[in-house]
Amino acid sequence: MRLFLTLLARNRLAVFGAAVLAFVVLVVLLAPLLPLADPDVTSTGDRFLRPLGGGPLLGTDHLGRDLLSRLVWGTRLSLAVGVAAAVLAGSIGAAIGVVAGYFGGSIDNVVMRGVDMLMAFPYILLALAIVAALGPGLMNALIAVAAVNVPFFARNIRGITVGIAHKEFVDAARLAGMGHGRILISEIVPNVLPVVVVAMSTTIGWMILETAGLSFLGLGSQPPQADLGSMLGEARAALITAPHTSVVPGVMILLIVMSINLLGDGVRDALDPRLRSGALSRPMAATLVDRAGVPEPKGAGLLSIEDLRTEFRVGPRRYKAVGGVSLSLAPGECVGLIGESGSGKSVTALSVMGLVASPPGVITGGAVRLEGEDLIGAPYGRLRSLRGDRVAYIFQDPLATLHPLYRVGDQLAEAIRVHHPVSRAEAGARAVKLLADVRIPNAEARARAFPHELSGGMRQRVGIAMALANEPEIIIADEPTTALDVTVQAQILSLLDDLRRKRGLAILFITHDFGVVGQLCDRVAVMYAGRIVEEGRTQEVLSAPAHPYTKRLIACVPELGGGRRRLEAIPGLPPAVDALPAGCAFAPRCAKADAACRAGEIALAGTGRKLRCLKPEVIA
Ligand code: SF4
Repeated sequence: MRLFLTLLARNRLAVFGAAVLAFVVLVVLLAPLLPLADPDVTSTGDRFLRPLGGGPLLGTDHLGRDLLSRLVWGTRLSLAVGVAAAVLAGSIGAAIGVVAGYFGGSIDNVVMRGVDMLMAFPYILLALAIVAALGPGLMNALIAVAAVNVPFFARNIRGITVGIAHKEFVDAARLAGMGHGRILISEIVPNVLPVVVVAMSTTIGWMILETAGLSFLGLGSQPPQADLGSMLGEARAALITAPHTSVVPGVMILLIVMSINLLGDGVRDALDPRLRSGALSRPMAATLVDRAGVPEPKGAGLLSIEDLRTEFRVGPRRYKAVGGVSLSLAPGECVGLIGESGSGKSVTALSVMGLVASPPGVITGGAVRLEGEDLIGAPYGRLRSLRGDRVAYIFQDPLATLHPLYRVGDQLAEAIRVHHPVSRAEAGARAVKLLADVRIPNAEARARAFPHELSGGMRQRVGIAMALANEPEIIIADEPTTALDVTVQAQILSLLDDLRRKRGLAILFITHDFGVVGQLCDRVAVMYAGRIVEEGRTQEVLSAPAHPYTKRLIACVPELGGGRRRLEAIPGLPPAVDALPAGCAFAPRCAKADAACRAGEIALAGTGRKLRCLKPEVIA
């Protein structure tokens, strides 16, 4: 709840809407206590008095009634009717949608065809027909407005329920022997309720408008009772001679509908779990940069990451995901970046090309130099020209990165045409060749396949082909084999190794698997809590780890045929990156830790073999 309110408070338009709505609701709730004139008392001698003219504050209408008093009482009525209609329509529509979506089959067909028939009528004509059948009156207008909105809720909620009804937790409930009633109440309804509430909040304004429309036509509230629509209807004859009689209820309708919609949009955004990271806006095209200075160039190499710092800013909290990483990559070299989940490997890799989502990601320091050119803070156009051309990425889940509605050949061709002015036919031919290069059998036919028609291994090869499409100098592979079985993993690794040797590719390979590192990488850097703690030639690090963390990490890896041995898990958990301990971040889990380890900053020392530890393991 606190998080929801915080997110809502960040949305200025929603706060404005809430403030206006709260003021209006407060005034109408206090209406019986306010010193207002009787809204229905006429005084023909005081007809059409102007606002602020010495008489009633907002003037009088065509019967000399106090406009302010009628406005307050009319708003009270309109708001009550709007909210009641929304709750009625939302409850009935959601119930219909949940039942149709959950049971599916013939129940869904019968119910939704009935809903479709209602939706086939223009809603205002349907509302008029209902009021005509029931007779004029505010209650009947409410029923008509609620009835024409039921199909809207039913359709929406049915679509959401269909998705939820096939989720594993619902299957599990069914297998556990729960009946339909219990599943609906305990599994389905709690999941659709937030959507219903948000839909209701965003349609209250619409309901008020519809009720006002019926009252305007004389089918809603009946004289002398005032609501905003009937006030407008009564004022239309004096629109030119006494415009204030129309403007007063018109402005109130505008304020109420606008404030409800602004607040409703804000509530929807704040409830969206994808935005709970603190971002109420779309990620920027390149990561935000907020660094005090640019470090002096240190290393040469093709790619040089120098003291890179990236953090996530969520409200007042700072999550320091990358806390000063330095790493270099030479042409044709493969460097492994290894560590537990949350150690900052992926954020480091994404920071290279400014791909960390902002907000909440911010690069706060360091430099990333591609042949001497600093990419941190480079103009978006420059980054875009380099992304996929000189520096390409392979991500872990190709199904999430490939577009489900386009054939893989077309997607490969598009990746080529973004960077090179070649014809569609030529790009298509190159796409087929790329698929063949990554050992996809029958490449021509596969190029015409959609991503879902390929196996996981095939899709990952397509991801690699896409990364190779523009013959990049560097490939950043972010756990590209984690989701694959060992046979396919071995094939992909050997493919990457072949490509590296044939094309002279430099690879930054992110993984948490020492076996993969041993097979592919020339050097390895071990990350912990956003920092590199050990770096060196792969075989040296694997055979004689010097940092206690590296040693414990390697000890956790089971060895096939290595005999029975106890796998020692590392005690404790990695520290939260928004509350890193002083000194060595590994100290709370390290058996060798002492006061010196916790005293202050420990530098990454050494050349070639680098280490961030005061009491390293003795290397034989
Ligand atoms: S610095 Fe101290 S606490 Fe940190 S890894 Fe080395 S020995 Fe352990």
